[in-house]
Amino acid sequence: MIGVYGGTFNPVHYGHLRTALEVKELFGLQRLHLIPCRLPAHRGQPEADAEIRMQMLAAAVADTPGFYADRRELERDGPSYMVDTLAQLRRELSSATPLLLFIGADAFAGLERWHQWQRLFEFVHLVVMTRPGFQRGPLPPFLQQRVVDDSLLLSTAAAGRVLFQPVTALAISATEIRRLIAAGRSPQFLLPDRVIALIRQHQLYQATTDQ
Ligand code: ATP
Repeated sequence: MIGVYGGTFNPVHYGHLRTALEVKELFGLQRLHLIPCRLPAHRGQPEADAEIRMQMLAAAVADTPGFYADRRELERDGPSYMVDTLAQLRRELSSATPLLLFIGADAFAGLERWHQWQRLFEFVHLVVMTRPGFQRGPLPPFLQQRVVDDSLLLSTAAAGRVLFQPVTALAISATEIRRLIAAGRSPQFLLPDRVIALIRQHQLYQATTDQ
């Protein structure tokens, strides 16, 4: 089984890395592709460009076997839709290899707004990472009929199913890390030191006067 964990990773932090490791072990993944997306043109915070987010991610996972910092979304022109990323990855794998897309419950709540979201299931199983005690609301029939409660069922097909998987969610967010740095406070112990070194080197997330 191969996994995909997407995000903005602006910057990558231990909340991402811990859940990534948990799911890698839980599902016995041969490889987990961590794929930074491009950012929407404007957000309200100081930002790091895609290349630097990629560098931070690569530094964070360099020593972790099975973790692969995957730059494919940065190399495509035009909007980077997850469905295109997954179609491309699927072409690189045997058609029988299960491919798992991991997303947080927050991202899952907006799934129906993703470009061609129903086509995702041609390429992957969807694993929704939840906090313990998460109660899911009613799902549209398209999703409900795909839900399985046993992770073993993900290995009996290459794609098409949905599983809700509780994981340890550390109370760390990239938004909060950017705020700390902008306020001149230390982000140490929330993310790897190598990532902090890159943030310093590139002077990322500093408060700017034009905001
Ligand atoms: P931001 O604060 O900028 O919105 P973020 O920290 O939520 O960023 P993203 O890169 O947008 O990070 O998230 C990528 C994925 O990681 C999402 O699926 C999200 O649910 C998950 N994730 C983010 N933070 C955590 C955390 N602390 N614990 C577990 N999963 C997380």
